Amino acid sequence: MRYVSTRGTAPELGFEEVLLAGLARDGGLYVPKTWPTLSPATIAGFAGMPFHQVAVEVLEPLTGGAIPRDVQAEMAKSAYSTFGHPAVTPLVQIGPNRFVLELFHGPTLAFKDVAMQLLARLLDYVLTKRGRRATVVGATSGDTGGAAIEAFRSTRCADVFILFPHGRVSDVQRRMMTTPSAPHLHALSIEGDFDDCQARVKDMFNHLAFRDRLHLSGVNSINWARIAAQVTYYFVAAVALGAPHRKVSFTVPTGNFGDIFAAHVARRMGLPIERLTIATNSNDILPRTVATGVYETRRVVPTSSPSMDIQVSSNFERYLYESSGRDAQGITHRMASLKQSGRFELGAPMTAALKADFAAASADESTIAATIRQVWHDCGYLLDPHTACAAAASAHNSSATPEILLATAHPAKFPDTMKSITGIHPALPPRLDRLLTDPEHMTRLPNDIAAIEAFVTARSSVLTAAPVGGR
Ligand SMILES: *Cc1c(COP(=O)(O)O)cnc(C)c1O
Repeated sequence: MRYVSTRGTAPELGFEEVLLAGLARDGGLYVPKTWPTLSPATIAGFAGMPFHQVAVEVLEPLTGGAIPRDVQAEMAKSAYSTFGHPAVTPLVQIGPNRFVLELFHGPTLAFKDVAMQLLARLLDYVLTKRGRRATVVGATSGDTGGAAIEAFRSTRCADVFILFPHGRVSDVQRRMMTTPSAPHLHALSIEGDFDDCQARVKDMFNHLAFRDRLHLSGVNSINWARIAAQVTYYFVAAVALGAPHRKVSFTVPTGNFGDIFAAHVARRMGLPIERLTIATNSNDILPRTVATGVYETRRVVPTSSPSMDIQVSSNFERYLYESSGRDAQGITHRMASLKQSGRFELGAPMTAALKADFAAASADESTIAATIRQVWHDCGYLLDPHTACAAAASAHNSSATPEILLATAHPAKFPDTMKSITGIHPALPPRLDRLLTDPEHMTRLPNDIAAIEAFVTARSSVLTAAPVGGR
């Protein structure tokens, strides 16, 4: 499988290079040159298969022979053995034709673990094979950072630097980044919001000399491998409810358009999906774009669902590239306009395509709280504030098609918010007993690219360590 950049001028790459590169050199994002499809018989065969086996079936056509099948199988098995539920991502019914897909049974209680556990193993495998080290950088609005630090804890080939917005993540989220202690793990508290952190990570990638010198690699959802790994649970959940013989609908709490784009990929690969609904909090750039055809950033508003406090949805570029008929020039032009004036217009044909592909709705803070209370009252199920955005967005869907809400975080990740909304203080699973008392390790840095690059340069062992031996 070859990959092309959405901006059209970076070289075509294979899966391994895309995995290492993260962002394309022309500033674009990589997408498969052609979409592989799975036949209805193949999809039907997923019924009853363990999660890690479905992961290999879904990944293999996307990796396109780059990594031997038995290696992928071993990695998937080990990645998903870190989950605290035998089904990995169980479905829970909360109403007639209404289901919650629990994606939060991984080590950091958020759906990011599903992709990150696999990504760290893939990266370690490729780096070891090449006798190379890498500097992994990532921005987090709360959950990516903990998932990355946890996933890379036992890898050997990468130094990891995670930028998070100072004071804007929950205590549990911060501690998941700051309590693991190892010389190759670095949590950086940046004086800014998530969009600043994401912009500084993009700056590092666009500074080509820095990028090459430090062998920069990314773990944000701009890294294609993360999207690829997330496609699995759409197949697993749909097949459990009767796909491919019966259609299902998904409602996805999204910020960076990563998770919902993975749903779109599942659809492109042949999964029959009736409706995909984008759910956001008050940071509603995506629902506004679906309604008006104008993509326009506004100030980020802090909410009770901080992992979705985002106004620049990076992965939307991948979708636009597809829906424009792969018009790289048109995408480059729109992204330049976004950088310059904070907005661009989709135009009539792409707006129509967007409306056909997605429904969208935002939930404000009082709607999120009311939804959490309502679902708790009606069925004794506690939704976290991110998942509540999905429940609110799909509250009025009433069709014969099963509706699957993606539960992206465990409520115990946001204990203060949950307590103020419901009066209930959700307990952390016992395996996280020491999280709230272990000592923290972090560095506070200004929102300044020179300061951040200087820190990364000083701490990365790419420039100092001897290369690791081949496997
Ligand atoms: C990251 C995150 C999201 C948004 O995911 P996208 O990839 O931006 O769609 C939603 N909920 C939680 C809990 C998250 O951690």
